Amino acid sequence: MSRRLGLPFLLAILVWPLAAESKFEFWPGASYDPRIPTYGKVLGYQPGERITWHAGLMKYLEALAGATRQVKIFEYAKSWEGRKLVYAAVGSEANLKRLEEIRAGMQKLADPRRTPEAEARKLMATLPAVIWLAYGVHGNEISSPEAALLTAYHLLAARKDKMVDDILANVLVLIVPTQNPDGRDRFVHHFEQSEGLEPDAQPVAAEHVEPWPGGRSNHYLFDLNRDWFALTQPEILGQAKALQEWFPLVYVDLHEMGADSTYYFAPEAIPYNPHLTQEQTKSLEWFGRNNARWFDQFGFDYFTREVFDAFYPGYGASWPAYHGSIAMTYEQASTRGLIVRRSDESMLLFRDTVRHHLVASLSSCETAARNREKLLDQFYRYRKTAIEEGARENIREYILPRQGNTSAVDKLAALLGEQGIEIKRAAAAFRNAGREYPAGSYVISLAQPAKRLIRNLLDLQVPMEEKFVKEQERLRRKKLPDEIYDVTAWSLPLSFNLEAVPSAEISQGNFQAVKPERIPPGKVNGKATVAYLAPWGTQAAGRLLAAALRKELHILSADKPFTQESRTYPAGTLIFKVKDNLPGLPETLEKLAGATGAEIQATGSGWVDEGVNFGSRYVVRVRKPAVALAWDRPTSSTSAGWTRFVLERQFEYPVTAIRGQLLGTADLSRFQALILPEASGEGYSQAFGANGTRRLKDWVAAGGTLIGLGNAVSYLADPKVNLLAVQQEELPRPETKAKKPETEGARVPGKLLASEDEYSKAIQAETELPDRVLGVMAKARLDPDHWMTAGLGETVTAMVSGRSIFTPIKLDKGVNAAVFLGPDKLLASGYLWEENRKQLAYKPLLIVQREGRGLVIGFTADPNFRAYMDGMNLLFINAVLRGPAHTRTGGVGESDY
Ligand SMILES: [Zn+2]
Repeated sequence: MSRRLGLPFLLAILVWPLAAESKFEFWPGASYDPRIPTYGKVLGYQPGERITWHAGLMKYLEALAGATRQVKIFEYAKSWEGRKLVYAAVGSEANLKRLEEIRAGMQKLADPRRTPEAEARKLMATLPAVIWLAYGVHGNEISSPEAALLTAYHLLAARKDKMVDDILANVLVLIVPTQNPDGRDRFVHHFEQSEGLEPDAQPVAAEHVEPWPGGRSNHYLFDLNRDWFALTQPEILGQAKALQEWFPLVYVDLHEMGADSTYYFAPEAIPYNPHLTQEQTKSLEWFGRNNARWFDQFGFDYFTREVFDAFYPGYGASWPAYHGSIAMTYEQASTRGLIVRRSDESMLLFRDTVRHHLVASLSSCETAARNREKLLDQFYRYRKTAIEEGARENIREYILPRQGNTSAVDKLAALLGEQGIEIKRAAAAFRNAGREYPAGSYVISLAQPAKRLIRNLLDLQVPMEEKFVKEQERLRRKKLPDEIYDVTAWSLPLSFNLEAVPSAEISQGNFQAVKPERIPPGKVNGKATVAYLAPWGTQAAGRLLAAALRKELHILSADKPFTQESRTYPAGTLIFKVKDNLPGLPETLEKLAGATGAEIQATGSGWVDEGVNFGSRYVVRVRKPAVALAWDRPTSSTSAGWTRFVLERQFEYPVTAIRGQLLGTADLSRFQALILPEASGEGYSQAFGANGTRRLKDWVAAGGTLIGLGNAVSYLADPKVNLLAVQQEELPRPETKAKKPETEGARVPGKLLASEDEYSKAIQAETELPDRVLGVMAKARLDPDHWMTAGLGETVTAMVSGRSIFTPIKLDKGVNAAVFLGPDKLLASGYLWEENRKQLAYKPLLIVQREGRGLVIGFTADPNFRAYMDGMNLLFINAVLRGPAHTRTGGVGESDY
């Protein structure tokens, strides 16, 4: 890129005093083989002088691979924007020659059932320690990808260096230069656009402050470092598969944090996930100590054991641990540019941040080299003890009954299979512990090497250490921030709204080992003379609806269940009448069923044994809605991204993303549905302005369907906006009964505080929002009579976080289509403050209100959270695709119930 910069810019670099210093050494005293190409030779600048585009990183890596036999590049995925995701194997020539043997050796070592101790010992004597260094998962954390390439260069080019010789003799280094190339290039593009005469150290300078959505996330604005067990994004799915080929003994994920910080490495902060082994947490210290030794020698500041915990299993630095790796996060203070001034007036230079990551990378490889055999032995024993525990503990199997939302069951099984969990499928019905399971159900034995991953993902609860929880309660009482870094619940059966049955018994019957597909093909049963019916209630039916709308088929949907030929069709069931559609209907449906996984039943009669007929007033015509989604400021980029991803990539339905600045003036009459994702602060009130809000209300009154997610409901409920007749709640204060100060001004009547308790009460704020809910899974019951809940069961599980609790809507204003259960039943998983639990009880999760001819729908918790709350999918699809069919614009569908 520097070639495109003009002479003035190059001059600026030259006069920039810090860059003009003569030789800056990344590893002082190192002597390099001149045959190995340098940064300068390939890219035209020194490391740390520019922020390298993804194409530049690839170019340099390929130049290294072209110059030596000690590098091999593997492509493991493509990003959404088509950029290559690769890892490079870097090692001794001997190891590069036997890559396949090493990979196969690790596969053997990973399965102690196939590899007895004696054979394992032989492998341990010959295998190198495979270490996986992953850089740049957050695209705006710019130093680590540069350090990735320097690490490779140093390992290949440093001569007469004992540390490097040790590493090459004992370690195979696998390097992912950037895990998030789309985010990386988004950052570099912003940075280069914002540059001026010289690199600007002012933290407020445009080059340090990214426009929405920033480079942290990938194309669909996901935080890839939360996606590891959900595997929704190609960048992580590809890497998870590659890890299962190599089973690296060590996994390091290299990040950046705020400019005022220093450098962070293991050991990690508490709470530790209880499924990590003691050996794993202990060996973190080997790495920490060796890093500390080098950092001390070079005079770099660092810290350990604060902030970054390993509790959530969806981080890059935690998921690999449940296959037996030592997994760690490193964090470097960021320049978010080439130089930045810190609060203490010191200057932080980009090249120094690169250097710190380089030193930590090499130091970690050195630790792996010194502990090669120990690490191999620990890995083997990790896998072995996992199997033993699974055979011994009270949960011997998890069973996924294939019933209800069968597409969710299949997808969950596929998702577990993709992350290295062995799964069997029942060829026939079977019994376990007195319960009968249908054919097709999945059985997961715990006696397998991935046992700890299984428990982590399928158990309803993964508890935090008691000591840690107590401390959080203490901090909260003092209104000090808690130390909980991410969500406290992630149980996959709950997020899929499915049952996973733990059993102490081993199932007997006819089972086959399978690798399920996420979307197994569906089919059309029979040839219809009257209609084709697609039972609602599965994600496959939702995908079918989306696809059929895009094909402009004539679609009806029943708002009440019916029974035909002794089969019950749930509310929401799609009806494709032969007479209303074109002659090619059967072939079209056949294709759509194949692609979406939906099951479609042909019928020769409109007669039903029970429930509504196809011509009933409870059967609505579903037309193709044009769907708009608020985008850019003020929306939360993650919420907007998740929502767009769920609609576009999980249901294959296109949306029009409208930037916040146009929301108030855009011609909304072109759209039938508008989604407002979560937003920051006064967000939508400001984005729409008073005029825009009035236009929005007119659009709803004329028949639009407006859907607010999470805290966007605050905007809809704002009395000045008045689109949803609910109120956001403050923290209840039962004891403050009209305690307005009796005197105005500085003095108040004296009041005796007789105990600690009274003191505590006296220092509470008069009014405040509830404490932040810590990312828990909470159960809500569904109103079975409302069309919004069609196809779902009695309850649904939502991911609740933040401080948005709302009053229920009154019966004359609307319907609470989903309401959280009572205080003793609502918490399904996670850690919930006592006050939250009491206050959340019986409060609405989903509110539907008629407004003129249109609809306002509020989800008080984001249904698309990280796109892994699959159990919420159908509610959301009911709102977006079936909602517009229930406005009063089409003549049919007047019924609310
Ligand atoms: Zn990061």
